[in-house]
Amino acid sequence: MSETIFSKIIDGSIPSKKVFENERIYAFHDIQPAAPVHVLIVPKKPIPSLDDIAEEDAALIGEIHLVAAKLARELGIAGGGYRVINNCGDDGGQTVPHLHFHLLGGAKLGALTGISGSHN
Ligand code: AMP
Repeated sequence: MSETIFSKIIDGSIPSKKVFENERIYAFHDIQPAAPVHVLIVPKKPIPSLDDIAEEDAALIGEIHLVAAKLARELGIAGGGYRVINNCGDDGGQTVPHLHFHLLGGAKLGALTGISGSHN
């Protein structure tokens, strides 16, 4: 797989505001936050999108959600509630082709909008 901005963030060649790291996962603040807390949780394994996960990735995807809940507690948004989002592919709004999950919170979030244009 070709290098993405996230693989460069993981290897340290692009700076980031890290909030969590272990052998499998790296998490950092989004550069354009859409909520008071907006963290990206990224597997170090360069999986392009959710559509590319395999059976062998099941534990990794589960661990990412455990990290999301842990970070929500640590960042003070667990009590009020939060959202974990994956954008998959072009129609899903994915812009970086390295699997990642958005953790958003710290304010009342709007309803998921779904279709952005006309669907007639
Ligand atoms: P997505 O649209 O789901 O692919 O999300 C990509 C996210 O990456 C967006 O929310 C961007 O603001 C974020 N992003 C892009 N470049 C950086 C960067 N250098 N550091 C932190 N977040 C970034």
